[in-house]
Amino acid sequence: RASRQTADRRPDLQLSFEFFPPKTDAMEERFWDSIAKLAPLKPRFVSVTYGAGGSTRERTLRMVRRITADTGVPAAAHLTCVGASRDEVDEVVRGYQDAGVKRIVALRGDPPEGVGQPFTPHPDGYRNAADLVAGIRRIGDFDISVAAYPEKHPQSPDWQADIDNLKRKLDAGANRAITQMFFRNADYLRYLERARAAGITAPIVPGIQPIHSFKQISGFAARCGASIPDWMAERFEGLEDDPETHALVAAAVAAEQVTELLDEGVTEFHFYTLNRSNLVLALGRLLGRRAGAE
Ligand code: FAD
Repeated sequence: RASRQTADRRPDLQLSFEFFPPKTDAMEERFWDSIAKLAPLKPRFVSVTYGAGGSTRERTLRMVRRITADTGVPAAAHLTCVGASRDEVDEVVRGYQDAGVKRIVALRGDPPEGVGQPFTPHPDGYRNAADLVAGIRRIGDFDISVAAYPEKHPQSPDWQADIDNLKRKLDAGANRAITQMFFRNADYLRYLERARAAGITAPIVPGIQPIHSFKQISGFAARCGASIPDWMAERFEGLEDDPETHALVAAAVAAEQVTELLDEGVTEFHFYTLNRSNLVLALGRLLGRRAGAE
């Protein structure tokens, strides 16, 4: 089993960690503390999200700049094209270029009315993520990641449309896709098959969401079209007031998910950290990556 092999037999293992820009001083402290704890796992990059409608533009830029300047960890900036003209988006991209940021996670984003509402591009804006990727490529030589949806994007009418869209993003110049959170590995593996059958060869990195709070993650999942399997809801049922057991179950659920994927031959993982380090540090160990080890 791949999950029982030592790390030196898995030199191709690649990890990345996603953060969100903190709102308060206390949250910012936790953000930097988590970056410091996860940096020794030598991630390919840590990424910082772009708030809905570009609401965190300045904070995302500040965090990404500082990670780049102060920690030596490669940073990736998420960027969306919601509510902004091409010129405005291009200016943000050039800002990253000037700050030495070489990686962008390029997304369409969701309309301010909410996830799932029809998306209307800005009249002078990029129309979708594929269009944005092409725009970024015109500006500079960035490493670009795009989004993929193992349970289909809620606005894709069918699988064909969904996979065609992923292909357009990669053909426009993206280097890899990162998936939305999912909890049934079979969904991800079937999605990989569909993508490979459509001639997509780029890496499709599973996005792993450790369950720090089942209540919170179920809310996120419902909003983004990821489903929570019954067996998972049952595992967390009644643990709202028992944080210790909740944390142990969360670790077990995520451990099961990543070791199973590793055994399926997956070598790249993206973790949604929610700016916390503990569970991700533990999962890194299960994947054979730990602080201080070469
Ligand atoms: P697209 O790839 O453009 O596709 C969206 C939908 O439109 C798909 O159903 C597609 O089939 C359809 N579509 C696209 N082009 C066409 C066309 N020409 N004709 C018909 N249909 C079309 N959101 C944020 O606001 N900030 C973030 O930082 C952020 N980070 C994310 C990171 C990851 C890894 C993931 C998976 C998602 C992230 N999101 C983020 C959420 C994302 O913005 C939403 O899921 C959004 O609804 C779709 O973005 P997209 O880039 O996948 O869009």
